[in-house]
Amino acid sequence: MDTIAASLAQVQARIAAACRRAGRPDGDVQLLAVSKLQPAALIRAAHAAGHRDFGENYAQELRDKAAELADLDLRWHAIGPLQSNKVKYVARHAASFHALDRLEVARELSARRQGDPIEVYVEVNIAGEDQKHGVPPADAPALVAQARELPGLRLVGLMCMPPQGDADWQPEHSRPWFRALRELAHGLGLRGLSMGTTDDFEVAIEEGATVVRVGRSIFGERPASAHDPAQA
Ligand SMILES: *Cc1c(COP(=O)(O)O)cnc(C)c1O
Repeated sequence: MDTIAASLAQVQARIAAACRRAGRPDGDVQLLAVSKLQPAALIRAAHAAGHRDFGENYAQELRDKAAELADLDLRWHAIGPLQSNKVKYVARHAASFHALDRLEVARELSARRQGDPIEVYVEVNIAGEDQKHGVPPADAPALVAQARELPGLRLVGLMCMPPQGDADWQPEHSRPWFRALRELAHGLGLRGLSMGTTDDFEVAIEEGATVVRVGRSIFGERPASAHDPAQA
């Protein structure tokens, strides 16, 4: 078994174990393999190992990889914030978008989407951090309500990236933020919860994540990038 196949199997086993701990059925959690800044060859390896769902942060990188890997039956998921002028790439290539934080982007996505509606998650700045993407929790209900009215979008849930970066940071520190996101989502009648990365996906599953976005545990460390939110 090659390394990508092995690490995918390991992550799947950890997801299954977290589901069992939480009393949730196996298969209740979707794994997005976050392939941003990684070469297409690694995506081919993951596809050969049976994986189909990939997360990308940057719209142009998504466009380029979708073209390069057009021979494979992949599902792309756009997980990074979007500028209006790049919405077209996500509208064309992605099955889901996890970082909606402005009505303007929702309208543009709605206008450009053809075929099946795109699944959308509103990104919430759950801890109210400065310079963090996402809407403040208090603004989430309005954006959810507005996005629900737009054709071409299917508003399915909320997404967050909890605070990190303290020297003594531990996965357990994410738990209250994941719980807060769940309570906010359920209050809005949304079941979808896109939360948890390499650092804390098991805690996220225990708190109800329906989608986890895992990069480094599958593909290894990324080439450095100044605009990688997970390295900020
Ligand atoms: C990069 C990124 C991830 C994956 O992070 P890893 O630490 O590689 O698991 C998940 N979500 C978002 C929004 C990201 O930018």
